[in-house]
Amino acid sequence: MKKTVSFSKRSKNIFFHILTNCNLKCRHCYINKEQHGSQTLPLEIVCRWLDAFTEGDADANLVLLGGEPTLHPDLADIVKAAKDKGYSSVTIDTNGYLFNDIIHKVTPREVDYFSFSLDGPTADENDRIRGRGSFATCVAGIEAARKKGFNTSLIYTVSSGNLKGLEGMVPLVKKLSIDRFFIQVIGLRGKSAGSKAGDGEHDIQQVTDQEWMHIIPHVAEQIADDGIAVTYPKVYLGPEESFACAGKVADNCFIFPNGRVYRCPLCEDFPVHGLVFEDNVLKKMPPINENDLFQLNIPEGCVMNKIIQPDNIVYDRDGRPKFKIACCLLKEEVYRLS
Ligand code: SF4
Ligand code: SF4
Repeated sequence: MKKTVSFSKRSKNIFFHILTNCNLKCRHCYINKEQHGSQTLPLEIVCRWLDAFTEGDADANLVLLGGEPTLHPDLADIVKAAKDKGYSSVTIDTNGYLFNDIIHKVTPREVDYFSFSLDGPTADENDRIRGRGSFATCVAGIEAARKKGFNTSLIYTVSSGNLKGLEGMVPLVKKLSIDRFFIQVIGLRGKSAGSKAGDGEHDIQQVTDQEWMHIIPHVAEQIADDGIAVTYPKVYLGPEESFACAGKVADNCFIFPNGRVYRCPLCEDFPVHGLVFEDNVLKKMPPINENDLFQLNIPEGCVMNKIIQPDNIVYDRDGRPKFKIACCLLKEEVYRLS
């Protein structure tokens, strides 16, 4: 069964980058230290910032990110503090290295999901993008987390460099007993924003509309047939489907160590954040910021997509966009009915 996950203000999703350092150098990494800061936030500051999102009735889901969040020496205490503060769920996104013995310092009651990243079904395919040894370490990390009883997700970021490997993930995801599989589209942000086809190290690009529409739903169905929930971005809207900007109709926050808080991930390379922590108090930024961009209605759909990655818009002979580009936060979920 497939369904589009509609936006809602009934739950908040807080994506908290507690540091930007990482042990890997993935070719598509979107971390941009100039725009996001390079500090590791102390436990006390993380806790104060977490308090800013627990007011009101909406459930708050927390995703802890980096860089590599398990490099943070106080990650276990951050998890426990988040649960004490009433966060409904806590997920740790990791490259699988699981530093600081993290899986031995937290329990499956405290961490709802460890979410791992692989970008290929074999060491050869994955390590070309994420670095030598990263496949074996990540697989070992997944197995160790499973053994400790944690729920696990796997994230696969699709680009021209690994589209062919996606189908190979079907048996691997099953073999590793993954609970949820996320397919992401490579964003032209951070390192990828400097990409040019054929320039060696950075020659990975977004896939075409035809490749996306023919391959992604097909692979998602195959994985869902094994009883694993699959989520992927919608990207292209059909003629009957209406466009909505999550910045206006949902409650997502993307927090960075320098205090910037964005509503839209596509804005993260620019100083257009709508909110900021100043002296540990969350404040609104003056215009012009991302909130002003969210108000613009254009035939192409997402304004930020048109600004930073216009090459994924296809026009007909009359210059009309063939598809509207959906908000990057609009997802399709595929799962088997039990
Ligand atoms: S693991 Fe994540 S943060 Fe680290 S380099 Fe790769 S994409 Fe960037
Ligand atoms: S990706 Fe586009 S549609 Fe979604 S929040 Fe950002 S500007 Fe709005």
